[in-house]
Amino acid sequence: MARAAVSAVPPRAWLEGPCPRCQAGWRCPAGDAQRPACRACGAPASALAHALVDAGGALRGCLHCGHDQMYAARDFPRRLGLAVVIAAAALAPFTYYISLAAGALVDAGLVFLVRKRVHCYRCGAVHHGFARPQVWAPFRLEVADVHRFGSKASVVAALRPGAEPPAARRQD
Ligand SMILES: [Zn+2]
Ligand SMILES: [Zn+2]
Repeated sequence: MARAAVSAVPPRAWLEGPCPRCQAGWRCPAGDAQRPACRACGAPASALAHALVDAGGALRGCLHCGHDQMYAARDFPRRLGLAVVIAAAALAPFTYYISLAAGALVDAGLVFLVRKRVHCYRCGAVHHGFARPQVWAPFRLEVADVHRFGSKASVVAALRPGAEPPAARRQD
């Protein structure tokens, strides 16, 4: 299987998301040519849009569905955060509760250390390990509503027909 020789997809970037037909999870390296076929319902594999990765390894749109409205979120390791909280609480009686403050600090530090991932509003694909995820704004409920409810979303009434919801595109 030959892969495109020139690709700006960062080598360790990977994707995950719900199956477009049955919502079962899939994941694959972002450099793969296709999203794998669904193991649960057999939905066929689909090509990944590597052209949407710019020369610097940042995303211009969703590699899975091609949509250009996405949001960035922290890739926070929840189990690790929870383990810190539990350890801090367990140690509290022996450390004059200093461990609680230390645990809070560690948690805050984790939030800044972990990289952001980029989510597609339309298909739910999550992009891990790409460059400059901060070009995408954080999650906006009104944008998600437009994708979930279409013309029934409350924000659509406030926009002129055909207008796109605000602030969901790449902000360089
Ligand atoms: Zn499926
Ligand atoms: Zn998508």
